[in-house]
Amino acid sequence: MAINLEDPKKLKPLREQIHQVAMNMLRPISRKYDKAEHEYPTELDMLAAMADGLSESGQGEGAGATGVRRDSKPDDGKVKNGANMSSVLSVSEMCWGDVGLTLAMPRQGLGNSAIASVANDEQHERFDGIWASMAITEPGTGSDSANIKTTATLDGDHYVLNGEKIFVTSGDRSDAVVVWATLDKELGKAAIKSFVVEKGTPGMKVERLEHKLGIKASDTATITFTDCRVPAENLLGSPEINVKEGFAGAMATFDNTRPLVASMAVGCARAALDYTRDLLAKAGVEIDYDRPAHLQSAAAAKFIQLESDYEGAYLLMLQAAWMADNRQPNSKEASMAKAKAGRMGSDVTLSCVELAGTIGYSEGELLEKWARDSKILDIFEGTQQIQQLIVARRVLGLSSAELK
Ligand SMILES: Cc1cc2nc3c(=O)[nH]c(=O)nc-3n(C[C@H](O)[C@H](O)[C@H](O)COP(=O)(O)OP(=O)(O)OC[C@H]3O[C@@H](n4cnc5c(N)ncnc54)[C@H](O)[C@@H]3O)c2cc1C
Repeated sequence: MAINLEDPKKLKPLREQIHQVAMNMLRPISRKYDKAEHEYPTELDMLAAMADGLSESGQGEGAGATGVRRDSKPDDGKVKNGANMSSVLSVSEMCWGDVGLTLAMPRQGLGNSAIASVANDEQHERFDGIWASMAITEPGTGSDSANIKTTATLDGDHYVLNGEKIFVTSGDRSDAVVVWATLDKELGKAAIKSFVVEKGTPGMKVERLEHKLGIKASDTATITFTDCRVPAENLLGSPEINVKEGFAGAMATFDNTRPLVASMAVGCARAALDYTRDLLAKAGVEIDYDRPAHLQSAAAAKFIQLESDYEGAYLLMLQAAWMADNRQPNSKEASMAKAKAGRMGSDVTLSCVELAGTIGYSEGELLEKWARDSKILDIFEGTQQIQQLIVARRVLGLSSAELK
């Protein structure tokens, strides 16, 4: 199968539609919610209802984070552009509008991606339409997610959860939290399972919200679980502890969410590039793509370098999504896309602040905000360093015990 590096034609109308939404509905309220941290963006309710309507009518398959379920249909040998491809393209358009607001979209949480990736058919149906956030990180556990200390103990037909989760995106506003907890610390990472814990479950408490550098429109919560009883059927995937399989089940989520986070960085960077291109044109800086960069003005040469960096990330994002749609193992490519796009997002947005001078640094425009918003995309769902580690392991054929 060959990969076609053009945008899929059939997804152009969806992409254009979402671009209009990003321009006309997200951009106008972007600064408002950057200033009003922790205030719920009520304008998103209407947008979310529109997205639900599209999904129900089948037109919006993969219009957001919920569309990443892997197709279980038998392979007919044909190349497909499916839910993963439409998700990355539409999420990048939304993030061209605003990353924080995109992350705050009801029913499009990273927990929804986890459910889509690992839930069985019954769970998929039961949790259809809920807004789910994702809780992995703990006070003593970040990149080393195999070290999770939150426990889940089977008691009759319930699991009893105890522990603390921090930095949960949409943790306050979502309807449910997908919580990673261990069934048996002694058995290592194979015993880590994810549980859907619905809001209002006794023993679950949102303790506080974080004040952050960027994506202020998105709430970030600390949540504690104290003897929190969760129905056994809310464990996602298999309750068996398969030491041979290790972390594979839980990690499958990342193969789908990392290209999505890459797409967020791609969208945010393009917002900065589009704005800066116009600004340079107005300032009389000519960019000539037919001449070597070093023969042009310093600003033009820098801009060409930023655009090529962007293009590299964009193509890796397409590749990772395309492989997922065509049911090819994509862990390495998902991490490559996330590493490249996360780094590119920060470099490009901050360089655009630099190129734009005082306009770049001023709150009168959004460039400074994009530089703040993009940083998180190089941190959550696995940091830059962790993505590089994963890629190195895959390339060298080494296990996580062999290369730490
Ligand atoms: C705004 C925001 C939203 C978030 N949302 C969520 C969410 O919804 N759900 C959730 O579960 N978590 C969330 N997180 C947490 C995020 O995933 C973690 O911050 C991230 O995984 C890093 O973990 P840590 O902060 O503990 O840093 P650490 O793991 O302590 O890492 C610190 C530094 O050391 C580096 N490092 C660590 N290990 C290695 C290694 N082996 N080799 C080389 N370098 C290494 C890291 O790359 C990093 O630079 C969020 C964080 C933020 C800031």
